[in-house]
Amino acid sequence: MRILFATYEVAPYFQTGGLGEVARDLPNALGKFGVKTTIVLPKYKLLKLPNKTEFIKNLDIHFAGKTEKVGVYKMNINREKNLYLISHPFLLDPRNSKEPVLMFVLFSKTISQLILNQGKIFGNFDIIHLNDLHPAMVAYFLKHSDIINTPATILTIHNLLYQGPVERIKLSQFLDINFGSEGWTSLLEQGIINADYITTVSPTYAKEIIKTRKGANLRKILQQKQNRVFGILNGIDYRLWNPQTDKLITKNFNINNIFEVKQENKLALKKRLKIHSDSSLPLVSFIGRLEPNQKGIDITYEMFKTILSESICQVVLLGTGNEIWAKKMGYLIKKYPKRFSFINKFDEVLSHQIYAASDIILIPSKYEPCGLVQMIAMRYGTLPLVRKTGGLADTVKDGINGFVFERYSSTELTRTLRLVLKLFKENPEKIAKMRENAMKEDFSWDKSAKEYKKLYQKLIKENK
Ligand code: ADP
Repeated sequence: MRILFATYEVAPYFQTGGLGEVARDLPNALGKFGVKTTIVLPKYKLLKLPNKTEFIKNLDIHFAGKTEKVGVYKMNINREKNLYLISHPFLLDPRNSKEPVLMFVLFSKTISQLILNQGKIFGNFDIIHLNDLHPAMVAYFLKHSDIINTPATILTIHNLLYQGPVERIKLSQFLDINFGSEGWTSLLEQGIINADYITTVSPTYAKEIIKTRKGANLRKILQQKQNRVFGILNGIDYRLWNPQTDKLITKNFNINNIFEVKQENKLALKKRLKIHSDSSLPLVSFIGRLEPNQKGIDITYEMFKTILSESICQVVLLGTGNEIWAKKMGYLIKKYPKRFSFINKFDEVLSHQIYAASDIILIPSKYEPCGLVQMIAMRYGTLPLVRKTGGLADTVKDGINGFVFERYSSTELTRTLRLVLKLFKENPEKIAKMRENAMKEDFSWDKSAKEYKKLYQKLIKENK
């Protein structure tokens, strides 16, 4: 089976968010199950490529009333994976915010032309897997081409909030196709309308964008295609996140010695962060963006104000983002220097140490398409306390491998944390069992890759 995986970013060559990791890890995992992946990416100036690229050919693309010369390059990554790069002056800078839509429509049109070129450059693919808004228009071009038997398309939505809005009249002018002359559409909307299947990164988020306000302006279109919308959880990199081999933590551990060794990791972290409170108190952490619209930092702050005034836990917060919230957290350090530590930077090493040392990790998100923090935490026997939404609802089972609350409010978060802290004090056997359950969960990419492969097979059968 051969898949073309079109994306805006792929780690480690260029990454801005989670998609970069998906584009690196999913094709690797698919390779283990006999699925060959070709990745296609714009050839940005800042790409850090390890191998030499080979120039393949120039294509003439009719676009915005002109003929644009677009270069196609290739780089072999390994036996299962190779990378094609699309080169054009519009595509040099991924942060080109002046005309982002223009650049991604050209990217999509070039990919489509390569696919429709009937295998002469690209070879033949069984499925075209599009990710987020950037290559989404490929689905449009394939659906509306004169060629029969084009490969089927899957569009994966990693975050519905980013859609690539464009005025219909402008899109009509770019492409010399009638998209209407009034109002707006978006690249993601065109992708959703035209792709054969839509996936998103957890089963619950898939339901939420169809049935609730989380679907925003695209809910109606998603509803019309609801039996073609699927949710598949992302995985985490099991080599990187492994308490038995992790070189960034003070002492490695496994399911049998977690109790003693977590304590050692906790002491080392507290020393590093200069927290001086009673070491028998549970360590509660938060790792993530300081952001009220998604990550729930507003209710977390309100909860901290209450909880920190009592001597019932210690708190570590690692996060960057919104300055207002960073400042507010700064006040709390002044007030509770012995019990609270706030590190306002992106620090990967420290994040490993926090996962290894903590007892509880907070993820009280308003919405969460998938979420990685809870999966990483569980791998380190740290119990997640999460709000029941998106991928959090799919991965955390209340009282089994973590704790779940429903209503988005600081009162509800505070109440749940109090109950959890009480359980830590009164029922250590239950906590030990829950840690074991958490560490036994399988959030590997292999599991996700098997599900993607099944979906690819279903679609290929349907497309015959
Ligand atoms: P997001 O919506 O931000 O992508 P995820 O839960 O999907 O949230 O992934 C967040 C990832 O970023 C996790 O691997 C987490 O450990 C990491 N992370 C977030 N903030 C920080 C930080 N300040 N320092 C180090 N790692 C961080």
